[in-house]
Amino acid sequence: MDLQPILNAIADDCSKEKERGVVASYIPELAKVSDEKFGMFVLDAQQNEYFVGDAHERFSIQSVSKVLALAQAFGIVGRSLWKRVGVEPSGNPFNFLSLLEQENGIPRNPFINAGAIVVSDVLLSTLKDPKQDFLAYIRELANDQSIVYDNIVAKSEKDTGSRNRATAYLLKSFGNLENDVEEVLDLYFHQCSVSMSCEQLAKTFFVFANRGYCTRRNKYLNINQVKRINALMLTCGFYDEAGEFAFEVGLPGKSGVGGGIAAVLPQQYSIAVWSPGLNKKGNSKLGLNALEAFTTQTNLSIF
Ligand code: GLN
Repeated sequence: MDLQPILNAIADDCSKEKERGVVASYIPELAKVSDEKFGMFVLDAQQNEYFVGDAHERFSIQSVSKVLALAQAFGIVGRSLWKRVGVEPSGNPFNFLSLLEQENGIPRNPFINAGAIVVSDVLLSTLKDPKQDFLAYIRELANDQSIVYDNIVAKSEKDTGSRNRATAYLLKSFGNLENDVEEVLDLYFHQCSVSMSCEQLAKTFFVFANRGYCTRRNKYLNINQVKRINALMLTCGFYDEAGEFAFEVGLPGKSGVGGGIAAVLPQQYSIAVWSPGLNKKGNSKLGLNALEAFTTQTNLSIF
């Protein structure tokens, strides 16, 4: 199927949209990005590329990185990871804290902040040079050595990250962090600060669409690990809007407060979209619209 006319039409519709959501400002650096940006990139199973708009411009991937950190940690420690982090949707915002106390320091899933902070702790305990090794993992998956951390974004979040600090200390108090809180947060903030384009994200997420094999056909995950990561994306990838995303779009996916969303249709394609304006639940407003239009018009969703 030629997806290009469909992408063009979606971008055209999005460009006319007046209500573009609100760019995140709680991390001050993110507020500098224009809400006019819009890009989309699709990589199909044959690795044909389709793209539109600002698909090659880099942005802060933020929580989209949680999938990549999970993939690396799960690949290293396997099923024992689930003793420290659950696999249930939380039905709450990404930075919600009270549930963590009620549930004795075991985060609901790896895609809320508390869960991702535990995953960062696992990486810190198992990698030799965690920051470098995590970046190397993404670069390998993307087959792109130019991917880097945005240290200004990482610092901006570090300076204002009281809530994540509170989360990490609560985890620590329950004995669910092995390492020093500031060290864990430093890795977590850097991981969130990685900047990538829709093209790079779609190429990276190809591994989840392609049974654990990257675009160069190297194997990173086994098929059962991919099954579990995709299940988590479907049920937990959009916080308290995961049901809505499954209902409207019908793909496993993950959003970030930088306005990016990456999603996959197993064995068919990976897709990334970027529009910085967020809806009230912290997910890209036009990104959701665009993905809904894409799966509806192509009839290509998991349902
Ligand atoms: N770095 C952001 C935070 O911890 C990630 C949140 C997100 O993208 N949903 O708040």
